Amino acid sequence: MRARAPILIAAALASTAAAADPPPAQPRPPDTEIQELVGAISADRIQRSVYVLASFKTRHTLSDPLPSGDGIGGAASWIRAEFERASKEAGGRLKVELDSFDQPPAPPRIMQQVAITNIVATLPGTDPDSGRTLVVSGHYDSMPTSVLDAASAAPGADDDASGTAAVLELARVMAHYRFPATIVFLAVAGEEQGLHGSTHWAQAAREREAEIEAMLDNDIIGSSRSAGGVIDRGTVRLFAQGVPPSATLDDGLVAQIRAGGENDTPPRELARAIRDIAGLYVPSIKVRVIYRSDRYLRGGDHLPFLERGYPAVRFTEPAEDFRRQHQDVREEKGVQYGDTPDHVDFAYTADVARVNAAALAVLARAPAPPSEVQIEAARLENDTTLRWAPGAEAYLAGHRVVWRETTAPFWEHSLDVAKGVNRVTIPGVSKDNVVFGVESFDAAGHASPAVFPAARRTL
Ligand SMILES: [Zn+2]
Repeated sequence: MRARAPILIAAALASTAAAADPPPAQPRPPDTEIQELVGAISADRIQRSVYVLASFKTRHTLSDPLPSGDGIGGAASWIRAEFERASKEAGGRLKVELDSFDQPPAPPRIMQQVAITNIVATLPGTDPDSGRTLVVSGHYDSMPTSVLDAASAAPGADDDASGTAAVLELARVMAHYRFPATIVFLAVAGEEQGLHGSTHWAQAAREREAEIEAMLDNDIIGSSRSAGGVIDRGTVRLFAQGVPPSATLDDGLVAQIRAGGENDTPPRELARAIRDIAGLYVPSIKVRVIYRSDRYLRGGDHLPFLERGYPAVRFTEPAEDFRRQHQDVREEKGVQYGDTPDHVDFAYTADVARVNAAALAVLARAPAPPSEVQIEAARLENDTTLRWAPGAEAYLAGHRVVWRETTAPFWEHSLDVAKGVNRVTIPGVSKDNVVFGVESFDAAGHASPAVFPAARRTL
Protein backbone atom coordinates (compact mmCIF):
# COMPACT_ATOMS: atom_id res chain seq x y z
CA MET A 1 0.00 0.00 0.00
CA ARG A 2 1.31 3.40 -0.89
CA ALA A 3 1.92 5.88 1.85
CA ARG A 4 0.16 9.20 1.96
CA ALA A 5 1.62 11.80 -0.38
CA PRO A 6 3.05 14.95 1.16
CA ILE A 7 0.98 18.11 0.91
CA LEU A 8 1.98 19.99 -2.18
CA ILE A 9 2.10 23.73 -1.89
CA ALA A 10 1.85 25.54 -5.17
CA ALA A 11 4.52 28.10 -5.82
CA ALA A 12 1.93 30.87 -5.88
CA LEU A 13 1.09 30.22 -2.26
CA ALA A 14 4.65 30.87 -1.26
CA SER A 15 3.99 34.59 -1.44
CA THR A 16 1.53 34.30 1.43
CA ALA A 17 4.13 32.85 3.80
CA ALA A 18 4.88 35.34 6.52
CA ALA A 19 8.48 36.47 6.42
CA ALA A 20 8.96 36.20 10.16
CA ASP A 21 7.53 32.72 10.38
CA PRO A 22 8.99 30.41 7.74
CA PRO A 23 7.47 26.95 7.54
CA PRO A 24 9.33 24.30 9.53
CA ALA A 25 10.79 21.35 7.65
CA GLN A 26 7.81 19.08 7.03
CA PRO A 27 7.98 15.47 8.17
CA ARG A 28 7.79 12.90 5.41
CA PRO A 29 5.29 10.05 5.55
CA PRO A 30 6.78 6.58 5.98
CA ASP A 31 6.49 4.04 3.15
CA THR A 32 4.91 0.90 4.63
CA GLU A 33 6.80 -1.33 2.22
CA ILE A 34 10.11 0.17 3.34
CA GLN A 35 9.03 -0.31 6.96
CA GLU A 36 8.43 -3.97 6.14
CA LEU A 37 11.80 -4.26 4.38
CA VAL A 38 13.63 -2.66 7.31
CA GLY A 39 11.83 -5.03 9.69
CA ALA A 40 12.97 -8.04 7.66
CA ILE A 41 16.66 -7.40 8.41
CA SER A 42 17.71 -10.30 10.64
CA ALA A 43 20.23 -10.05 13.48
CA ASP A 44 20.38 -13.86 13.54
CA ARG A 45 21.44 -14.11 9.91
CA ILE A 46 23.99 -11.33 10.45
CA GLN A 47 25.33 -13.26 13.45
CA ARG A 48 25.68 -16.40 11.36
CA SER A 49 27.51 -14.53 8.60
CA VAL A 50 29.96 -12.95 11.04
CA TYR A 51 30.70 -16.32 12.64
CA VAL A 52 31.22 -18.01 9.28
CA LEU A 53 33.53 -15.24 8.05
CA ALA A 54 35.49 -15.27 11.32
CA SER A 55 35.85 -19.05 11.09
CA PHE A 56 38.33 -18.78 8.23
CA LYS A 57 41.75 -18.69 9.85
CA THR A 58 42.53 -15.41 8.15
CA ARG A 59 41.03 -13.33 5.36
CA HIS A 60 44.31 -11.53 4.75
CA THR A 61 44.47 -10.44 1.10
CA LEU A 62 47.67 -12.46 0.55
CA SER A 63 46.44 -15.59 2.34
CA ASP A 64 45.39 -18.90 0.76
CA PRO A 65 43.45 -18.07 -2.44
CA LEU A 66 41.95 -21.55 -2.88
CA PRO A 67 38.14 -21.66 -2.64
CA SER A 68 38.42 -24.80 -0.52
CA GLY A 69 41.04 -23.32 1.83
CA ASP A 70 40.76 -21.51 5.16
CA GLY A 71 42.08 -18.20 3.80
CA ILE A 72 40.64 -15.34 1.76
CA GLY A 73 39.80 -17.62 -1.18
CA GLY A 74 37.50 -19.68 1.01
CA ALA A 75 35.82 -16.55 2.35
CA ALA A 76 35.30 -15.17 -1.17
CA SER A 77 33.79 -18.43 -2.30
CA TRP A 78 31.36 -18.45 0.64
CA ILE A 79 30.31 -14.81 0.04
CA ARG A 80 29.69 -15.54 -3.64
CA ALA A 81 27.56 -18.56 -2.72
CA GLU A 82 25.54 -16.46 -0.25
CA PHE A 83 24.84 -13.79 -2.88
CA GLU A 84 23.85 -16.51 -5.36
CA ARG A 85 21.52 -18.09 -2.83
CA ALA A 86 19.98 -14.68 -2.08
CA SER A 87 19.44 -14.20 -5.80
CA LYS A 88 17.85 -17.63 -6.24
CA GLU A 89 15.48 -17.04 -3.35
CA ALA A 90 14.38 -13.79 -4.98
CA GLY A 91 13.76 -15.34 -8.40
CA GLY A 92 17.22 -14.69 -9.82
CA ARG A 93 16.98 -10.94 -9.50
CA LEU A 94 20.58 -10.37 -8.36
CA LYS A 95 23.39 -10.49 -10.89
CA VAL A 96 26.40 -11.96 -9.07
CA GLU A 97 29.87 -11.36 -10.50
CA LEU A 98 33.49 -11.56 -9.50
CA ASP A 99 35.61 -8.48 -10.11
CA SER A 100 39.12 -10.01 -10.09
CA PHE A 101 42.38 -8.32 -10.99
CA ASP A 102 46.12 -8.73 -10.51
CA GLN A 103 47.39 -6.16 -8.04
CA PRO A 104 51.09 -5.41 -8.67
CA PRO A 105 53.43 -5.04 -5.67
CA ALA A 106 52.60 -1.89 -3.68
CA PRO A 107 55.19 -1.57 -0.89
CA PRO A 108 55.14 -1.34 2.03
CA ARG A 109 51.83 -3.23 2.29
CA ILE A 110 52.00 -5.57 -0.72
CA MET A 111 55.41 -7.03 -1.52
CA GLN A 112 54.44 -9.34 -4.37
CA GLN A 113 51.75 -9.46 -7.03
CA VAL A 114 48.45 -10.81 -5.77
CA ALA A 115 45.07 -11.53 -7.28
CA ILE A 116 42.34 -9.50 -5.55
CA THR A 117 38.66 -10.38 -5.93
CA ASN A 118 35.65 -8.21 -5.19
CA ILE A 119 32.29 -9.96 -5.09
CA VAL A 120 29.56 -7.88 -6.68
CA ALA A 121 25.80 -8.46 -6.53
CA THR A 122 23.71 -6.07 -8.61
CA LEU A 123 19.97 -5.52 -8.23
CA PRO A 124 19.02 -3.88 -11.53
CA GLY A 125 16.76 -0.85 -11.35
CA THR A 126 13.29 -1.09 -12.82
CA ASP A 127 13.49 2.28 -14.59
CA PRO A 128 14.83 1.35 -18.05
CA ASP A 129 15.64 4.98 -18.84
CA SER A 130 17.91 5.41 -15.87
CA GLY A 131 21.48 4.43 -15.09
CA ARG A 132 21.16 5.75 -11.54
CA THR A 133 23.11 3.54 -9.16
CA LEU A 134 23.56 3.26 -5.39
CA VAL A 135 26.43 1.28 -3.90
CA VAL A 136 26.74 -0.29 -0.43
CA SER A 137 29.98 -1.94 0.63
CA GLY A 138 31.88 -3.81 3.31
CA HIS A 139 35.41 -5.23 3.09
CA TYR A 140 35.85 -8.94 3.70
CA ASP A 141 39.63 -8.99 4.03
CA SER A 142 41.21 -8.86 7.49
CA MET A 143 44.64 -8.50 9.10
CA PRO A 144 46.43 -9.41 12.33
CA THR A 145 48.94 -7.07 14.02
CA SER A 146 51.27 -6.92 11.03
CA VAL A 147 49.74 -5.93 7.71
CA LEU A 148 52.30 -8.18 5.97
CA ASP A 149 51.40 -11.27 8.03
CA ALA A 150 49.21 -13.47 5.85
CA ALA A 151 49.54 -16.52 8.09
CA SER A 152 48.47 -15.63 11.64
CA ALA A 153 44.87 -15.86 12.75
CA ALA A 154 42.89 -12.75 11.77
CA PRO A 155 39.19 -13.34 12.48
CA GLY A 156 38.28 -9.73 11.60
CA ALA A 157 34.82 -10.05 13.13
CA ASP A 158 34.15 -6.35 13.66
CA ASP A 159 36.65 -5.19 11.01
CA ASP A 160 34.98 -5.94 8.77
CA ALA A 161 32.95 -9.14 8.84
CA SER A 162 30.31 -6.90 10.44
CA GLY A 163 30.09 -4.66 7.36
CA THR A 164 30.27 -7.62 4.97
CA ALA A 165 27.52 -9.43 6.90
CA ALA A 166 25.37 -6.29 6.72
CA VAL A 167 25.87 -6.07 2.94
CA LEU A 168 24.93 -9.76 2.53
CA GLU A 169 21.81 -9.24 4.62
CA LEU A 170 20.84 -6.14 2.65
CA ALA A 171 21.13 -8.15 -0.58
CA ARG A 172 19.03 -11.01 0.83
CA VAL A 173 16.23 -8.69 1.89
CA MET A 174 16.29 -6.01 -0.79
CA ALA A 175 16.40 -8.47 -3.71
CA HIS A 176 12.71 -9.15 -2.99
CA TYR A 177 11.72 -5.52 -3.63
CA ARG A 178 11.65 -3.30 -6.68
CA PHE A 179 13.43 0.03 -7.03
CA PRO A 180 13.73 2.36 -10.02
CA ALA A 181 17.47 2.83 -9.40
CA THR A 182 20.07 0.05 -9.46
CA ILE A 183 21.62 -1.07 -6.16
CA VAL A 184 25.09 -2.67 -6.06
CA PHE A 185 26.03 -4.80 -3.05
CA LEU A 186 29.80 -4.89 -2.86
CA ALA A 187 32.15 -7.09 -0.80
CA VAL A 188 35.67 -5.86 -1.46
CA ALA A 189 39.16 -7.12 -0.55
CA GLY A 190 42.56 -5.47 -0.33
CA GLU A 191 41.22 -2.78 2.02
CA GLU A 192 43.81 -3.31 4.72
CA GLN A 193 46.52 -3.40 2.04
CA GLY A 194 45.56 0.07 0.77
CA LEU A 195 41.92 0.18 -0.42
CA HIS A 196 42.86 -1.75 -3.56
CA GLY A 197 39.61 -3.61 -4.20
CA SER A 198 37.38 -0.57 -3.83
CA THR A 199 39.81 1.56 -5.86
CA HIS A 200 39.69 -0.94 -8.71
CA TRP A 201 35.88 -1.08 -8.77
CA ALA A 202 35.45 2.69 -8.37
CA GLN A 203 37.95 3.40 -11.14
CA ALA A 204 36.16 1.03 -13.52
CA ALA A 205 32.87 2.73 -12.60
CA ARG A 206 34.37 6.13 -13.36
CA GLU A 207 35.75 4.91 -16.69
CA ARG A 208 32.35 3.65 -17.81
CA GLU A 209 30.81 6.88 -16.47
CA ALA A 210 28.55 5.06 -14.02
CA GLU A 211 25.98 7.37 -12.43
CA ILE A 212 26.68 6.58 -8.78
CA GLU A 213 24.45 8.85 -6.70
CA ALA A 214 25.47 7.46 -3.33
CA MET A 215 28.06 5.08 -1.91
CA LEU A 216 27.63 3.78 1.64
CA ASP A 217 30.71 2.18 3.21
CA ASN A 218 30.12 -0.04 6.24
CA ASP A 219 33.37 -0.63 8.07
CA ILE A 220 33.53 -1.56 11.78
CA ILE A 221 29.81 -1.50 12.57
CA GLY A 222 29.82 -4.46 14.96
CA SER A 223 30.34 -3.18 18.46
CA SER A 224 28.29 -0.95 20.70
CA ARG A 225 30.87 -1.13 23.48
CA SER A 226 33.76 1.31 23.88
CA ALA A 227 37.23 0.40 25.16
CA GLY A 228 36.15 1.81 28.51
CA GLY A 229 33.12 -0.48 28.66
CA VAL A 230 30.49 2.15 27.91
CA ILE A 231 27.64 0.66 25.87
CA ASP A 232 25.90 2.89 23.34
CA ARG A 233 23.40 0.92 21.27
CA GLY A 234 21.71 4.06 19.99
CA THR A 235 24.37 5.75 17.84
CA VAL A 236 26.18 5.15 14.60
CA ARG A 237 28.73 7.56 13.25
CA LEU A 238 28.44 8.69 9.64
CA PHE A 239 31.57 10.33 8.24
CA ALA A 240 30.92 12.83 5.47
CA GLN A 241 33.58 14.79 3.63
CA GLY A 242 33.30 18.52 2.92
CA VAL A 243 35.64 20.21 0.47
CA PRO A 244 37.96 17.53 -0.97
CA PRO A 245 41.58 17.81 0.18
CA SER A 246 43.01 18.29 -3.32
CA ALA A 247 45.48 20.91 -4.49
CA THR A 248 43.12 22.15 -7.18
CA LEU A 249 39.36 22.55 -7.08
CA ASP A 250 37.07 22.70 -10.07
CA ASP A 251 35.39 25.99 -10.91
CA GLY A 252 31.98 24.84 -9.71
CA LEU A 253 33.30 24.02 -6.26
CA VAL A 254 35.25 27.27 -6.05
CA ALA A 255 32.03 29.15 -6.84
CA GLN A 256 30.18 27.11 -4.24
CA ILE A 257 32.77 27.93 -1.57
CA ARG A 258 32.56 31.59 -2.55
CA ALA A 259 28.82 31.39 -1.88
CA GLY A 260 29.33 29.83 1.55
CA GLY A 261 28.55 26.31 0.34
CA GLU A 262 31.63 24.58 1.72
CA ASN A 263 29.43 22.58 4.09
CA ASP A 264 27.02 21.51 1.34
CA THR A 265 29.12 19.17 -0.77
CA PRO A 266 27.30 16.12 -2.17
CA PRO A 267 28.62 13.78 0.59
CA ARG A 268 27.27 16.16 3.25
CA GLU A 269 23.88 16.46 1.52
CA LEU A 270 23.84 12.66 1.32
CA ALA A 271 24.61 12.37 5.03
CA ARG A 272 21.78 14.80 5.86
CA ALA A 273 19.37 12.74 3.78
CA ILE A 274 20.46 9.49 5.46
CA ARG A 275 20.05 11.05 8.90
CA ASP A 276 16.51 12.16 8.07
CA ILE A 277 15.60 8.74 6.64
CA ALA A 278 17.00 6.94 9.69
CA GLY A 279 14.96 9.21 11.95
CA LEU A 280 11.81 8.08 10.15
CA TYR A 281 12.49 4.35 9.76
CA VAL A 282 14.98 3.37 12.47
CA PRO A 283 14.20 5.66 15.42
CA SER A 284 16.13 3.39 17.82
CA ILE A 285 19.39 4.61 16.36
CA LYS A 286 20.72 8.12 15.95
CA VAL A 287 22.92 8.85 12.96
CA ARG A 288 25.70 11.02 14.32
CA VAL A 289 26.89 12.87 11.24
CA ILE A 290 30.55 13.82 11.45
CA TYR A 291 31.79 16.50 9.12
CA ARG A 292 35.07 14.74 8.31
CA SER A 293 35.99 12.15 5.67
CA ASP A 294 37.20 9.59 8.23
CA ARG A 295 38.84 9.19 11.62
CA TYR A 296 42.45 10.31 12.24
CA LEU A 297 45.01 7.74 11.01
CA ARG A 298 42.32 5.69 9.29
CA GLY A 299 40.70 5.42 5.87
CA GLY A 300 38.09 3.32 4.16
CA ASP A 301 36.54 2.18 0.92
CA HIS A 302 34.49 5.36 0.53
CA LEU A 303 37.68 7.33 -0.15
CA PRO A 304 38.38 5.99 -3.67
CA PHE A 305 34.79 6.90 -4.57
CA LEU A 306 35.18 10.40 -3.17
CA GLU A 307 38.43 10.83 -5.08
CA ARG A 308 36.55 10.03 -8.29
CA GLY A 309 33.83 12.56 -7.61
CA TYR A 310 31.14 10.23 -6.24
CA PRO A 311 29.20 11.11 -3.05
CA ALA A 312 30.39 8.53 -0.50
CA VAL A 313 30.06 8.26 3.27
CA ARG A 314 31.22 5.85 5.96
CA PHE A 315 29.30 4.17 8.78
CA THR A 316 31.30 3.19 11.88
CA GLU A 317 30.31 2.18 15.43
CA PRO A 318 30.17 4.95 18.07
CA ALA A 319 33.37 4.25 20.03
CA GLU A 320 35.97 1.76 18.84
CA ASP A 321 37.95 -0.62 21.03
CA PHE A 322 41.36 -0.74 19.38
CA ARG A 323 42.29 -3.92 21.28
CA ARG A 324 39.86 -5.59 18.89
CA GLN A 325 41.25 -4.29 15.61
CA HIS A 326 44.38 -5.24 13.69
CA GLN A 327 45.60 -7.31 16.64
CA ASP A 328 46.95 -10.84 16.92
CA VAL A 329 44.51 -12.93 18.94
CA ARG A 330 46.21 -13.24 22.33
CA GLU A 331 46.08 -12.49 26.02
CA GLU A 332 48.60 -10.09 27.45
CA LYS A 333 48.75 -9.12 31.13
CA GLY A 334 45.20 -10.32 31.56
CA VAL A 335 43.93 -8.29 28.58
CA GLN A 336 42.32 -10.02 25.61
CA TYR A 337 43.34 -8.79 22.16
CA GLY A 338 41.95 -9.77 18.79
CA ASP A 339 38.89 -9.19 16.64
CA THR A 340 36.78 -12.19 17.64
CA PRO A 341 33.03 -12.55 17.09
CA ASP A 342 32.18 -12.84 20.80
CA HIS A 343 32.64 -9.07 21.03
CA VAL A 344 30.17 -8.28 18.27
CA ASP A 345 26.71 -6.97 19.19
CA PHE A 346 24.55 -8.48 16.46
CA ALA A 347 21.39 -6.59 17.37
CA TYR A 348 23.37 -3.35 17.05
CA THR A 349 24.88 -4.41 13.70
CA ALA A 350 21.37 -5.24 12.49
CA ASP A 351 20.20 -1.74 13.43
CA VAL A 352 23.04 -0.21 11.41
CA ALA A 353 22.06 -2.49 8.52
CA ARG A 354 18.46 -1.22 8.90
CA VAL A 355 19.69 2.37 8.54
CA ASN A 356 21.44 1.31 5.32
CA ALA A 357 18.33 -0.53 4.12
CA ALA A 358 16.06 2.45 4.70
CA ALA A 359 18.50 4.88 3.12
CA LEU A 360 19.08 2.73 0.04
CA ALA A 361 15.37 2.01 -0.38
CA VAL A 362 14.27 5.64 -0.09
CA LEU A 363 17.05 6.97 -2.32
CA ALA A 364 16.48 4.21 -4.91
CA ARG A 365 12.77 5.05 -5.06
CA ALA A 366 13.27 8.80 -5.07
CA PRO A 367 13.75 10.63 -8.34
CA ALA A 368 17.28 11.80 -9.16
CA PRO A 369 18.45 14.95 -7.36
CA PRO A 370 17.46 18.01 -9.39
CA SER A 371 19.92 19.34 -11.96
CA GLU A 372 20.88 22.89 -12.89
CA VAL A 373 19.76 24.15 -9.50
CA GLN A 374 20.32 27.87 -9.39
CA ILE A 375 19.69 30.75 -7.02
CA GLU A 376 18.97 34.03 -8.77
CA ALA A 377 21.70 36.52 -7.91
CA ALA A 378 21.35 39.12 -10.63
CA ARG A 379 20.24 42.00 -8.41
CA LEU A 380 20.25 43.04 -4.76
CA GLU A 381 17.06 41.90 -3.03
CA ASN A 382 15.83 40.39 0.21
CA ASP A 383 13.63 37.69 -1.31
CA THR A 384 15.10 34.47 -2.66
CA THR A 385 14.26 32.88 -6.00
CA LEU A 386 15.44 29.41 -6.96
CA ARG A 387 15.07 27.50 -10.21
CA TRP A 388 16.04 24.10 -11.56
CA ALA A 389 15.73 21.99 -14.69
CA PRO A 390 12.55 19.92 -15.08
CA GLY A 391 13.14 16.37 -13.86
CA ALA A 392 13.02 13.51 -16.36
CA GLU A 393 11.36 10.73 -14.36
CA ALA A 394 7.69 9.91 -14.86
CA TYR A 395 7.46 9.30 -11.11
CA LEU A 396 8.75 12.74 -10.18
CA ALA A 397 6.02 14.49 -8.15
CA GLY A 398 7.70 17.72 -7.17
CA HIS A 399 10.58 19.52 -5.54
CA ARG A 400 11.26 20.58 -2.01
CA VAL A 401 13.16 23.76 -1.26
CA VAL A 402 14.98 23.39 2.07
CA TRP A 403 16.91 25.94 4.04
CA ARG A 404 18.68 26.52 7.34
CA GLU A 405 20.74 29.05 9.19
CA THR A 406 24.30 29.18 7.83
CA THR A 407 25.52 27.97 11.23
CA ALA A 408 22.98 25.13 11.51
CA PRO A 409 24.06 21.59 10.61
CA PHE A 410 20.70 20.28 9.32
CA TRP A 411 17.74 21.58 7.33
CA GLU A 412 15.29 23.63 9.37
CA HIS A 413 12.62 24.79 6.90
CA SER A 414 11.05 23.50 3.73
CA LEU A 415 8.59 24.36 1.03
CA ASP A 416 7.17 21.78 -1.39
CA VAL A 417 6.26 22.68 -4.96
CA ALA A 418 4.44 20.45 -7.41
CA LYS A 419 5.89 18.97 -10.58
CA GLY A 420 5.89 21.47 -13.41
CA VAL A 421 6.90 24.35 -11.16
CA ASN A 422 10.60 24.87 -11.71
CA ARG A 423 11.05 28.34 -10.26
CA VAL A 424 9.92 29.56 -6.86
CA THR A 425 10.34 32.70 -4.77
CA ILE A 426 10.63 32.54 -0.99
CA PRO A 427 9.58 36.02 0.10
CA GLY A 428 11.28 37.61 3.05
CA VAL A 429 13.98 34.96 3.36
CA SER A 430 17.27 36.39 2.19
CA LYS A 431 19.75 34.10 0.47
CA ASP A 432 22.43 36.21 2.17
CA ASN A 433 21.44 34.85 5.58
CA VAL A 434 20.64 31.17 5.11
CA VAL A 435 21.74 28.13 3.09
CA PHE A 436 19.32 26.73 0.51
CA GLY A 437 19.02 23.36 -1.16
CA VAL A 438 16.54 21.71 -3.53
CA GLU A 439 15.40 18.06 -3.47
CA SER A 440 13.25 15.95 -5.80
CA PHE A 441 10.48 13.70 -4.51
CA ASP A 442 7.93 11.20 -5.79
CA ALA A 443 4.23 10.89 -4.95
CA ALA A 444 4.97 8.81 -1.85
CA GLY A 445 7.44 11.37 -0.51
CA HIS A 446 10.71 9.53 -1.23
CA ALA A 447 13.17 12.39 -1.58
CA SER A 448 16.61 12.76 -3.09
CA PRO A 449 19.47 14.43 -1.26
CA ALA A 450 19.44 18.21 -1.59
CA VAL A 451 21.49 20.07 -4.17
CA PHE A 452 23.26 23.33 -3.35
CA PRO A 453 22.27 26.04 -5.85
CA ALA A 454 24.77 27.75 -8.11
CA ALA A 455 24.49 31.52 -8.34
CA ARG A 456 22.72 32.69 -11.51
CA ARG A 457 23.97 36.11 -12.53
CA THR A 458 21.44 36.79 -15.28
CA LEU A 459 17.68 37.17 -15.07
ZN1 LIG B 1 38.12 -1.97 8.12
